[in-house]
Amino acid sequence: MVLDMTEDLEAPRRPVPGELTFTAPRGRRPRRHLADMTAAERREAVTALGLPAFRADQVSRHYFTRLSDDPSAWTDIPAALRDDLAAALTPPLMTPVRELTADAGTTRKMLWRLFDDVLVESVLMRYPDRVTMCVSSQAGCGMNCPFCATGQAGLTRNLSTAEIVEQVVAGARELARGDVPGGGGRVSNVVFMGMGEPLANYKAVLGAVRRLVDKSPEGLGMSARGITVSTVGLVPRMRELATEGLPVTLALSLHAPDDELRNTLVPVNTRWNVAEVLDAAWEYARVTKRRVSVEYALIKDVNDQAWRADLLAKRLRNKLVHVNLIPLNPTPGSTWTASRRDDEREFVRRLEAGGIAVTVRDTRGREIDGACGQLAAAE
Ligand code: SAH
Repeated sequence: MVLDMTEDLEAPRRPVPGELTFTAPRGRRPRRHLADMTAAERREAVTALGLPAFRADQVSRHYFTRLSDDPSAWTDIPAALRDDLAAALTPPLMTPVRELTADAGTTRKMLWRLFDDVLVESVLMRYPDRVTMCVSSQAGCGMNCPFCATGQAGLTRNLSTAEIVEQVVAGARELARGDVPGGGGRVSNVVFMGMGEPLANYKAVLGAVRRLVDKSPEGLGMSARGITVSTVGLVPRMRELATEGLPVTLALSLHAPDDELRNTLVPVNTRWNVAEVLDAAWEYARVTKRRVSVEYALIKDVNDQAWRADLLAKRLRNKLVHVNLIPLNPTPGSTWTASRRDDEREFVRRLEAGGIAVTVRDTRGREIDGACGQLAAAE
């Protein structure tokens, strides 16, 4: 297997169905947007238009602080300049195709169409104490995990930084407008658990994380601790992420404690095995002092045996880790389904007996195809 880890938008390789794909195919790029740029780059873009640099800060404030992409409301900027500034800094990146709601409107799934007609999903979930946005980092995914709806169609392309940030900003706008039951509010958490493998689009994802944590008006001013990057286990990128000085939570999609099964559930395991991804996870925890989250989708009679719970507990013992069990969300056309309640309970019991912190994830939004990729696949 060739392992070219470049992740730019124009990598010259087409996806082959059923094969691991680390690079996105060549294509036209989305428009450059202020969310793609650092504050200094925004000022350069504005001075290139022959305008004073402070106009960039004003537009940033409209976008990130007031959540406005409507230039007619930018009243601190002369009317004659607004459209030019908007064209240069806030070009439209995506249009809503459909919104589905569940849980009395507190779970909201958006399907977006990007400039080149590709579809991506994001989900807003309001809880009593927080609002979480689940975002996509790629259109499709090249990791080919057989239980995941996104994996089935392969990778279409990487998203740009601004296309990722815009999903969060769109959620923030819905909240600010009062469209989400429970009143106003802010997005407190972002999880990279929508479509795509975030660490296979490393540069754009890191840019997005920086925009989310940059102080207002340069970014959304979120806490890095509220951000979770979820990965199949691209070991070199996990190690690189540990060095970025960004205390984001790392989630590792393990799904099996043994290589034989993990090779089939998470095919990239044939490149970096369980021992290697766990080593990289412990390194991440050591450097960042952040508890790593291990994701484990419980699949009936596939990975939910008592002996696998014991083996998982053994491999995680005495580590800075938390296990998140996810009842499998069955995807169309698959025979796999969620574990029996009794098996799930026994799995939890054995992990706890092994001293491992464990939670079972709630299954919000099932009725709106909450699992990643199902809505885009249906369309
Ligand atoms: N590519 C990244 C992030 C995207 S998916 C990763 O794999 O971590 C986010 C989580 O949802 C992953 O743990 C993934 O394995 C899990 N997942 C995907 N499809 C699922 C399904 N049908 N049921 C339950 N969990 C699923």
